[in-house]
Amino acid sequence: MGGVQRHAEVAGGGLAGLTVATALAQRGWSVRLHERGRELREIGAGIFMWENAVRVLEQIGAADQALARAERIASWRLYDERGRLIQDDWMKGGETRLYTLLRTDLHRALGDAAREAGVEVVTQSLVIGATPEGELQLDTGESLAADLVVGADGVGSPVRNSLGLDLAVRDLQDGCGRHLIPRLPTDPVGSTLEYWNQGRRVGIVPVTPDEVYVYMCCPAKDLVGREKPINMASWTASFPELAALFARIPSTARWASFADVQCHGWTKGNVALVGDAASAMAPNLGQAACLAMTNGYALASVLQEHDSVADGLVAWERRQRPVTDATQRYSRLYGKVGTRWPRSITDVRSAVVWAAGRSRRWQARVNVAAHEGADLVTHR
Ligand SMILES: Cc1cc2nc3c(=O)[nH]c(=O)nc-3n(C[C@H](O)[C@H](O)[C@H](O)COP(=O)(O)OP(=O)(O)OC[C@H]3O[C@@H](n4cnc5c(N)ncnc54)[C@H](O)[C@@H]3O)c2cc1C
Repeated sequence: MGGVQRHAEVAGGGLAGLTVATALAQRGWSVRLHERGRELREIGAGIFMWENAVRVLEQIGAADQALARAERIASWRLYDERGRLIQDDWMKGGETRLYTLLRTDLHRALGDAAREAGVEVVTQSLVIGATPEGELQLDTGESLAADLVVGADGVGSPVRNSLGLDLAVRDLQDGCGRHLIPRLPTDPVGSTLEYWNQGRRVGIVPVTPDEVYVYMCCPAKDLVGREKPINMASWTASFPELAALFARIPSTARWASFADVQCHGWTKGNVALVGDAASAMAPNLGQAACLAMTNGYALASVLQEHDSVADGLVAWERRQRPVTDATQRYSRLYGKVGTRWPRSITDVRSAVVWAAGRSRRWQARVNVAAHEGADLVTHR
């Protein structure tokens, strides 16, 4: 597409908003991004970046910076309540790359890429909605006209809600506390470990040469599991082999619940939804942000092939949505198996997970975003 420069207004300066804004600006769009916070900032601890997101980072030129201190993961091991290894095959036999890194490193790299591409970032700018014709509405009463409006404004998305695109926005009654602790020589190298006992799950993830990310998940109704600081006695009773790890956990992080978002559609007229606004899911497969970035990047490249933004958005949703929908379904299934499995038959759960790990076909289906999703970014 040549000719007149097209203009986009983007709501939200998270991982989704920064990716789509950068990809658009790199293709010649003028882009203004609105963030309600005082500054562009990411909270949280570590994050998994699968092949699909790694390719996006490479395409927008942010990979070197984002992954400079990251850990390349070669194995993801899962242990049950009896200390048995029930899964060690997810990363085997494929070309799928997985890195674990600090969220702040990722967000900073995307923010820098956005500025370098010429994105205008406006902080303390509160979006309240959008119109299908392509107007972004601010709480100041201003209405900003654009060829494209992107709602990358997270789970609560005023852009999505103002257009009636929300079908179901659910609190999953499951969640976790996230912690960063100094890394010791005894911590895992090149692998991530996850431990299950009934509805509780603990993950140990190296994210930089100096830090380890620990997540401690439990259902909302497990009030003791949610306590802050962590209830050492209760968590040690669930995972005696992790007592020394729990003693290293600082008392700062609080438990927060996971959300799941389903939409009637991701687009309306000249407006598109990207990221958690469109497709939040529990972090069971470590794919929500990866897909946010994949879909955000794809939005810019698909629009390049269309004169009409509205037509381009329809084509983009049709192309990207099946992989995201499938990943949401598998994430929900994983959450049910991990947190809602009946206590009396946890041995059956171990057997099912072990068998699933042995099935290449099943693994390919669950990891559809890292395989087919990555090919939607670029073929290697
Ligand atoms: C515990 C946990 C672990 C996770 N781990 C992983 C993982 O390992 N891998 C993975 O891929 N994903 C993971 N995820 C998911 C990932 O964090 C999210 O999918 C991702 O951060 C969503 O990015 P986003 O930009 O869509 O939304 P957000 O991060 O919510 O960003 C939205 C932005 O919009 C701004 N905003 C909101 N409303 C307005 C408004 N009205 N006006 C202006 N600005 C506004 C917000 O301030 C924010 O900056 C995890 C999630 C959780 C909860």
